[in-house]
Amino acid sequence: MKRSEVDRSKLSPMMQQYMEIKDKYEDCIIFFRLGDFYEMFFDDAILTSRILELTLTGKQAGLEERVPMCGIPHHAYVSYVDELIDKGYKVAICEQLEDPKETKGMVDRDVVQVITKGTRIDSNMDSKSNNYIANLYDFSYCYGVSFADISTGEVYATLIEGESDRAIKEILKNNFREVIVNDSIDREIIESLRSKYDILVTIQKEELEGNEYDYIYEDIEDIRIIRTVKHLLKYIVETKKGDLHHLQHCQIVKSSMYLEFDANTKRNLELVETIRNGDRQYSLLWLLDKCKTAMGSRFLKYNILNPLTNKKEIERRYDFVSLLSTEFILRDDLIHSLDHVYDLERLIGRITYGNLNAKDLLQLKSSLKELPTIKRILKELKYDKEIETFEEVFQLLDRTILEDAPFNLHEGHLIKEGYNEELDELKRIRSGSKDFILELEQEEKKRTGIKNLKVGFNKVFGYYIEVSKGQVGLVKEEFGYERKQTLANCERFITPLLKEKENIILGAEEKIISLEYKLFMDIREVVKRYVSPLQKVAKTISEIDMLQAFSIVSDTYKFTRPEISKERSLKLIECRHPVVEQVMKEKYIPNDIVMDKTTNILLITGPNMAGKSTYMRQCAITIIMAQMGCFVPCRSASIPIFDKIFTRIGASDDLVSGESTFMVEMKEANTAISEATENSLILFDELGRGTATYDGMSLAQAILEYIHDKIKAKTMFSTHYHELTFLEKDLKQLKNVHVSALEEKGKVTFLHKVKPGAVDKSYGIHVASLAHLPDSLIHRANDILNVYEKKSNKKEVFTQTSLFELEEEDITPQVNPIEEKIQGINPLEMTPMEALNFLYDLKKDLKDKK
Ligand code: ADP
Ligand code: MG
Repeated sequence: MKRSEVDRSKLSPMMQQYMEIKDKYEDCIIFFRLGDFYEMFFDDAILTSRILELTLTGKQAGLEERVPMCGIPHHAYVSYVDELIDKGYKVAICEQLEDPKETKGMVDRDVVQVITKGTRIDSNMDSKSNNYIANLYDFSYCYGVSFADISTGEVYATLIEGESDRAIKEILKNNFREVIVNDSIDREIIESLRSKYDILVTIQKEELEGNEYDYIYEDIEDIRIIRTVKHLLKYIVETKKGDLHHLQHCQIVKSSMYLEFDANTKRNLELVETIRNGDRQYSLLWLLDKCKTAMGSRFLKYNILNPLTNKKEIERRYDFVSLLSTEFILRDDLIHSLDHVYDLERLIGRITYGNLNAKDLLQLKSSLKELPTIKRILKELKYDKEIETFEEVFQLLDRTILEDAPFNLHEGHLIKEGYNEELDELKRIRSGSKDFILELEQEEKKRTGIKNLKVGFNKVFGYYIEVSKGQVGLVKEEFGYERKQTLANCERFITPLLKEKENIILGAEEKIISLEYKLFMDIREVVKRYVSPLQKVAKTISEIDMLQAFSIVSDTYKFTRPEISKERSLKLIECRHPVVEQVMKEKYIPNDIVMDKTTNILLITGPNMAGKSTYMRQCAITIIMAQMGCFVPCRSASIPIFDKIFTRIGASDDLVSGESTFMVEMKEANTAISEATENSLILFDELGRGTATYDGMSLAQAILEYIHDKIKAKTMFSTHYHELTFLEKDLKQLKNVHVSALEEKGKVTFLHKVKPGAVDKSYGIHVASLAHLPDSLIHRANDILNVYEKKSNKKEVFTQTSLFELEEEDITPQVNPIEEKIQGINPLEMTPMEALNFLYDLKKDLKDKK
């Protein structure tokens, strides 16, 4: 049965209410609250029952047929919602807005929040990563991108000039899982985001009207940024609905503020996850993350993906890192304090919006308690940012919230004694009466002489006096006992006095619970007033935490403080790949990477497995670390500030878009060539491998020449076309280096040592034999290689006018059978007749061949 085909006039009032709500949230699965359950209807029910493996039943709704339905208990909804969100659906939680017990007729219901990939703030989310909801606004001539993390309240915006793929790249780079777009956007963008990259896209018409959240963009002038932010806010306000005042002032991101690179580079360099299986372990982030707080870890991740370009700010970080390393005792104190600091950003998020519980306020208290110590340490370290300490908030929380308060706010036991007189009085009454009941048990035993008489409590009958079957005969009329319940081995009674006390206790209990809840909410309101300054402290702590992590890793892994060079000269002495170095069992061989003012290109040759790719990667990683303000894995380092990094490393077919390796390769090369400046770094690893030899080699040469003459970016270019090394002669800014290997008695040892000059052997066959290809095959390969080597005069390749001629030449080495035959005879041992016959045969062979 389809929802759209139903005769609505026949529906029961409740189902009509459902229909109206569903109309407003067409693209969501509605969790419709009915008593203790959430129920789904129609297509929603069919879909969710399949995904969540629930039983699909039906509900009587006034129609002849029952309406498809499935349901889940309300208290267990979180995991069900999670699963739907993970699969890319949106869920609208529709609650009962009135207490059914106190309402005549139908309860009012409405959606209280919509949960989506980008707006979820459940406790299961990864604490070490931000979860952003993004907005892409197409202004026809440029794009606005804004994004926010609702759990922490951060809001960012940026403008992107140029083609749509730049906008898409921005979205991929930041790993946005959900994007809102304006309705005039190019449909191709939506299609590509959805189908190629599995991003949840919502088209939204207008942006937000001015309202209470104006402050978020009040100090921004660019009208395009404002519209982009407003457009995002409209979606957030409409889905989240609650108080969102923890959303912070929007920060404008300018691409020039950060070292830019795209999602490919992020992947190729394994900055936040490995290529092999997408794990955090063995990524650069994994190595550097010695942060003590989740905020610190998130800030670190942000910085790995957005290293700085401002020399002053970078050096400010170096100063602090080196100070922390010298003042290691203070650093230890700092780390100890940070250990007790919880995720302030997300706590603040829950204080304004979301399900705050007593544990959250206790975590806030524990965090605030450390602030004076942190403040003192920072002062001693002459750190240039001060932090507020919020002593009054700490005092308030310390005075009020019970250390062992339960999760549920509706069970009481939240507020400490001495804070509120009324509450204390109620608690006295309750405990006084409880004592009274214990005393009553003693008195009744005495009065009646029934030794095993007991006073007990259950939810149905309240307080009762219990007498075992054996002694029930002793109960006399004059005791005033009234029989309430008979069980197998005892009887239960009540007395008027007992009931009177019970009323007092239960009345007090109820009042206590609601008063504690109210007091708790009042405290929350007080704390809310500090949201903005608290967020500021959270930011500062994130930074300190990241910097102490830098200091720790620098000490542990022997990193050094780089020098920022003003000239375009890069000098990394004894540079290592920081992650490979830690993960490898053998000793890592350090290598120098030197490109002075007049060297822009390193042409790297060397056998397979020698370490070319690693050498290139470690260069980029070192630069990224340096620009984050971290020390670097070198003995000494002098680094100019780079604006962009481009990489083409390894063969990664873009399987989704169905493009071949070579096409992807050429596209990436094109991006690099069109966007790089002389302050960029380009890594091209065996570019041109994906096509025929001469094709690839020619392209590689042309690209090198282009970079050399036009772009002048610092470039590392590894190649197995040894023929290209002759370019050093013509291209003044190109230098050959090679990764050496040692060949002894047919065995090759990789030294992983990079040396000046070129090498002209690739040892590919040797690697094949290491991989245990059959011996006979390896022999044959060696034979073929010999033929090639004899045949080709390398220089010649470049003087050839037509490459195609060469391409078509049959390159399988063939031994001429006639030649072979002649080789096989010795004329001195032949009779004249034999010689004549031989000549006759040869002639015949020749004829047959034609
Ligand atoms: P290539 O790109 O030349 O084929 P790779 O860079 O992929 O070689 O390196 C091959 C392997 O050699 C790596 O997996 C690594 O374990 C090892 N390796 C690379 N560089 C070094 C080095 N400097 N010191 C020690 N081992 C290295
Ligand atoms: Mg390689």
